[in-house]
Amino acid sequence: MRIVSLAGGIGGARFLRGLRAAAPAADITVIGNTGDDITLFGLRVCPDLDTVMYTLGGGINEEQGWGRTAETFTVKDELAAYGMEPQWFGLGDRDFATHIIRTQMLAAGYPLSQVTEALCARWQPGVRLLPMSDDRTETHVVITDEGGRRAVHFQEWWVRLRASVPAEEIALVGAADAKPAPGVLDAIEAADFVVLPPSNPVVSIGTILQIPGIRAALESKTVVGVSPIIGGAPVRGMADACLTAIGRETTAQAVLDLYGAPLLDGWLVAEEDAATAHPGVTVEARPLLMSTPEATEALAAAALTLARTLADR
Ligand code: GDP
Ligand code: CA
Repeated sequence: MRIVSLAGGIGGARFLRGLRAAAPAADITVIGNTGDDITLFGLRVCPDLDTVMYTLGGGINEEQGWGRTAETFTVKDELAAYGMEPQWFGLGDRDFATHIIRTQMLAAGYPLSQVTEALCARWQPGVRLLPMSDDRTETHVVITDEGGRRAVHFQEWWVRLRASVPAEEIALVGAADAKPAPGVLDAIEAADFVVLPPSNPVVSIGTILQIPGIRAALESKTVVGVSPIIGGAPVRGMADACLTAIGRETTAQAVLDLYGAPLLDGWLVAEEDAATAHPGVTVEARPLLMSTPEATEALAAAALTLARTLADR
């Protein structure tokens, strides 16, 4: 069984752990969001790729959902003591090593896809992890604050401002000229079906879908998605601020309409959202909370079962 999954950070990574458990023999390719990537202190940081890699490789800080386990922050504190900015992004000492290696390999001319493969050689995530593109793209957010109306990097809006200032516009800079990373379109082509985890529909899945060619390739496959919104609220995080920014409600229905058909064939929602519907999409209600490894595996198994049924049709 060949499965392709798109993924953002925490929501995507947790779901993927369930997917790997639900289909241990499957060949899983993960297309990761790189719109969150940022250069800090001269180092290239890929938060979503690393969250997937650490989570599936057993190196994640479980409580936090991102960053390394047993992390310390000596380097961050030393940088702050020099007055170095930004100080709002939490880079731990162990995590720094990943970014140093990535930056060194990128500077030596390796594309991000090969760098990611090299980093995964240590973590053995049990999936093939590909960045959505080797070309640099970055999500920027237009806000108005005491600094006037301006565009800031997504991380500044998300991490420094905690999305407290409304986003007037969210744009993936560089999207039009970006190509899918090597292996992305081939993996989609070869897949028996595709699953969309409950990742952020705007700045994770929505970002990946903006890389020219990816959405079109997915439209010809059987695709089953899991709603990141339960009963009108994101389970954790601030996805509501992203949906509001693009003029959508924070509901399972709004995310279903955003993805739409022909991209989606199946959509899993929570019991309270069972009335969700869209022409051409099979909607099923299931427990959507990834509260334990068992619950997460059961959710992934439900997505697989629906995908298989729809692919056979
Ligand atoms: P990020 O890049 O770290 O923000 O992570 P993702 O984009 O992969 O996923 C974030 C989204 O996961 C949030 O917007 C939540 O709506 C969703 N999410 C988090 N936990 C759960 C859960 O237990 N169940 C479901 N259905 N969605 C969840
Ligand atoms: Ca992210």
